[in-house]
Amino acid sequence: MVAEQLAARGIASAAVLAAMQRIPRELFLAPASRDRAYLDGAQPIDCGQTISQPYMVARMTELLELQPDQRVLEIGTGSGYQTAILAALARQVYTIEWHLKLLNQAARWLRDLGLSNVSCRCGDGSLGWPEHAPFDAIMVTAGAPDVPPALRAQLAAGGRLVVPTGPVGDQSLLLVRRAPAGFAQDEVLKCRFVKLLGAAGWQE
Ligand code: SAH
Repeated sequence: MVAEQLAARGIASAAVLAAMQRIPRELFLAPASRDRAYLDGAQPIDCGQTISQPYMVARMTELLELQPDQRVLEIGTGSGYQTAILAALARQVYTIEWHLKLLNQAARWLRDLGLSNVSCRCGDGSLGWPEHAPFDAIMVTAGAPDVPPALRAQLAAGGRLVVPTGPVGDQSLLLVRRAPAGFAQDEVLKCRFVKLLGAAGWQE
């Protein structure tokens, strides 16, 4: 996976490649799906959600340019696999998941791996986690209609936010940076994510 799906496609960060080499992706899938853990695509998990494609996990993580002393907010814990990769690279990860069942499973697997620098919460991540803001980096792993204003506001100076946005079927992954002069925003690639629900998400 690391050689063929990530390095060969341009993932250059040695830290990201090492984290994805080290964290066992199969642990985050139900036993019946474990033989699909290293395939080149998203896979179904409980509650009608998906674990993201390995390349997407790597690309989004690389865009955050995490340093070991930084704090990161993740919206959409899902399986917890992306959370584990972030926890391997940052000082503290704050992660919010809508479905309690998914959050409880993910928290158990993260604990089993000995990753103790993760704070988990069940709720609406589209509003961020103001008590712990500002964050050096924020990652949203579900598709929003537009960049959630609360997440933009909770970025530290110099912070990076990656978020899939746009209508289902035509989403773009956006990279937002908070610079001294204001926010800069770039479209990175076209993508396909499950819907972000909640106040700044889709209403259904
Ligand atoms: N990073 C996860 C992706 C899971 S799919 C993984 O690779 O396993 C996206 C997740 O976002 C789903 O688990 C979904 O329940 C969650 N989600 C959707 N809207 C949300 C919201 N407003 N707040 C928190 N989580 C949300």
